[in-house]
Amino acid sequence: MKSSNSNPDHDQNKEQKETHPPGAPALSSHFIKEIIQEDLRTNKWGGRVQTRFPPEPNGYLHIGHAKSICLNFGTAAEFGGKCNLRFDDTNPSKEEVEYVDSIKEDVRWLGFDWEDRLFFASDYFEQMYEYAVQLVKQGRAFVCDLSADEITQYRGTLTEPGKESPYRNRSVEENLDLFERMRKGEFPNGARVLRAKIDMASPNLNLRDPIMYRIVHAEHHRTGNQWCIYPTYDWAHGLEDSIEGITHSICTLEFEDHRPLYDWYLDQLGVYHPRQIEFARLNLNYTVMSKRKLLRLVQEKYVSGWDDPRMPTICGFRRRGYTPESIRVFADKIGVAKRDSVVDFALLEHCLREDLNKWAPRVMGVLRPLKVIIDNYPEDSVEELEAVNNPEDPAAGMRKVPFSRELYIEQDDFREEPPKGFFRLSPGKEVRLRYAYIIKCESVVKDEKTGEVKELHCTYDSETKSGSAGADRKVKATLHWVSASHAIEAEVRLYEHLFIIPDPDDVPEGTDFTANLNPKSLEVLKSCRVEPSLADAKPKDRYQFERLGYFCVDLDSTKEKLVFNRTVTLRDEWAKMEKKQKENK
Ligand code: ATP
Ligand code: MG
Repeated sequence: MKSSNSNPDHDQNKEQKETHPPGAPALSSHFIKEIIQEDLRTNKWGGRVQTRFPPEPNGYLHIGHAKSICLNFGTAAEFGGKCNLRFDDTNPSKEEVEYVDSIKEDVRWLGFDWEDRLFFASDYFEQMYEYAVQLVKQGRAFVCDLSADEITQYRGTLTEPGKESPYRNRSVEENLDLFERMRKGEFPNGARVLRAKIDMASPNLNLRDPIMYRIVHAEHHRTGNQWCIYPTYDWAHGLEDSIEGITHSICTLEFEDHRPLYDWYLDQLGVYHPRQIEFARLNLNYTVMSKRKLLRLVQEKYVSGWDDPRMPTICGFRRRGYTPESIRVFADKIGVAKRDSVVDFALLEHCLREDLNKWAPRVMGVLRPLKVIIDNYPEDSVEELEAVNNPEDPAAGMRKVPFSRELYIEQDDFREEPPKGFFRLSPGKEVRLRYAYIIKCESVVKDEKTGEVKELHCTYDSETKSGSAGADRKVKATLHWVSASHAIEAEVRLYEHLFIIPDPDDVPEGTDFTANLNPKSLEVLKSCRVEPSLADAKPKDRYQFERLGYFCVDLDSTKEKLVFNRTVTLRDEWAKMEKKQKENK
């Protein structure tokens, strides 16, 4: 049996959790897997499955990206394939090294490994340029001198065809010369662009002579000042996929209309041609997921940073105490669809509880302490009581919890005038203290001025100790508690959703999503008390505080001052909804 202060049981559990590789729980099927299975059956790609996760390093990853990561890495792994991590760093002005590092950390934390397949789109700039020259030579691309506004005007609308650019019929020689001079830096930003020559009357606007290169005199985080023309997403993305030998290029639905262009470029060049497949992006209620909005929350200090535990970023969830396992299971459960929908946050929390429930050690902590003095308990006596570390896991064993004459219970667990149905402590009533005795409230001491309850005087029934013969006596409630002189003071941060309504973008005229921020999304409790077995708790350690939820030691925590985040409460709204649905069937 383990002593109460060092808690090796607890330690084992967590290290294991952080590095645990993606397990192989029965994964659910979806239409992308069906496509891959069919391709394997027909040997379309020579038996290969090669996917990629292609973030643009212009922000931190969020839970939506996690879905894409699990889909790309997870599906490849399931079919014995590989997934590349590719930074789509084609846009020089918005991208930063800080983001590259955070993205790598997040993908690794989720449990995935790109091995030696870390790529940067910027490494292909020369190759892309050569492909562009090839299209010019084929008469399929031209240098256009129209301004950005003019290009928009010439583009037409969904109901009207576009108009051809007056520069469309330049000779191949002139185009080659101008394109080369664009590259050399002879022209200012916006002076010219390279465009594909496709069809200005196409019903698909993406095919109306789309832009391939823009002049942007800006330093790039990897290529420095080597380039002053940068490829557009549509031009670059298929080439990146082609160069890497991707088989299934999985992207979100908004690229469905771009697929004909993706295909056109690769067909014109006659190069290796992956298949693009679109799926519905993840939307979560009570959450914004646009990078621009997340950046505003950080810059305008609505949150403490990208990893604020209320943020839907992967680093925010990590700091909050989420496990990679729970996010992977969530990604599997929500499935992969062709139509957009909004997923209930309660499902994500449900997946988290299911995971933590299995292995998080149980402990006792009191958030809003109320002093209890047990008048008939010997003054200097301390008993070490046996407590179960995890009822879900017998191997987790037991620990000792000190019990003494002065304790703390939760303020909420006492009512001087109990309303109907309140079975916790009140004057003259009895409750059981978890792992200890039945106590009875005899009297209440109040602050003379404010009338606030200061402490409770109780008596205990020495015959009712847990585990003893007298423990059978039933009372209606069991409370958690800590011994006043043994407990450790801690700060606890409680969270609610960052937004007060399910759709944060639903705002009155003249305001924006910040109008829907929840003013109560963070509550800091400075003088909580936790049991002494937590003395050695380290950042990222996770526990269930009995009756209160799952908690995670925050990065701000020190030896002197323990700081916890409440990761999630114990109330499983999702399980309740599921139960109700079943009953209604
Ligand atoms: P941007 O507007 O900056 O392009 P983005 O969210 O598309 O933002 P990327 O870095 O381009 O960011 O995304 C990387 C990958 O993650 C892409 O393949 C993208 O489709 C996918 N992705 C982004 N958001 C979601 C989401 N909410 N659900 C599922 N996949 C997503
Ligand atoms: Mg994108």
